[in-house]
Amino acid sequence: MTENLGVLGTKTPRRTGVERVVNAPLPTVYGKFQAVGYMDHDRGEEQVALVHGDIGAERVLVRLHSECLTGDAFGSQHCECGDQLAAAMRAVVAEGSGIVVYLRGHEGRGIGLLAKLRAMALQAEGLDTVEANLALGLPVDARDYGVAAGMLHDLGVRSVRLMSNNPLKREALVRHGVQVDEQVPLLIPPCESNITYLRTKRERMDHHLPHLDAVAHLS
Ligand SMILES: [Zn+2]
Repeated sequence: MTENLGVLGTKTPRRTGVERVVNAPLPTVYGKFQAVGYMDHDRGEEQVALVHGDIGAERVLVRLHSECLTGDAFGSQHCECGDQLAAAMRAVVAEGSGIVVYLRGHEGRGIGLLAKLRAMALQAEGLDTVEANLALGLPVDARDYGVAAGMLHDLGVRSVRLMSNNPLKREALVRHGVQVDEQVPLLIPPCESNITYLRTKRERMDHHLPHLDAVAHLS
């Protein structure tokens, strides 16, 4: 790696951490948000937090949403991500204030879009989502939440009510200095295409999905 040398030959310190870059109004079908754009200097990634209303600092209703192109944009029924994103945006608007942090670089629990598609191809052959990642020589979950905590700190948030079924998200936020007062379930009714995936999340990744008990009839 070449060093970044200034005109006097001294080393220019590289920026680190997360920097707020832009704030733009974003009207959506769910309600009005502010899209607050950040640059993550550690990873070189662009990130965005959708802020609704006057959020305050304590017990802020927050969703940390991991990017999922197939679920969020294409309406994939392989997973429940698209429905979770919509439900989170609706919940924040219904509450009157809150934040949806949309985490880019989290495709396929952090393995990337193409690897996720490879894992989905293996799942179509009968592997579950955990086995598929491992068969590809990839981690089951490679997501990092440091940038999310950095964005919440920048927005003045000290404690959250976290909309998530995933205990790892809660633990990660706490580790990064954001208090989690409450974990709010975000339960999406399963369908035939995603019931196996959801059961794997519950049984192998410890997700809290009590509503799956009621749908034993789905194969
Ligand atoms: Zn998804």
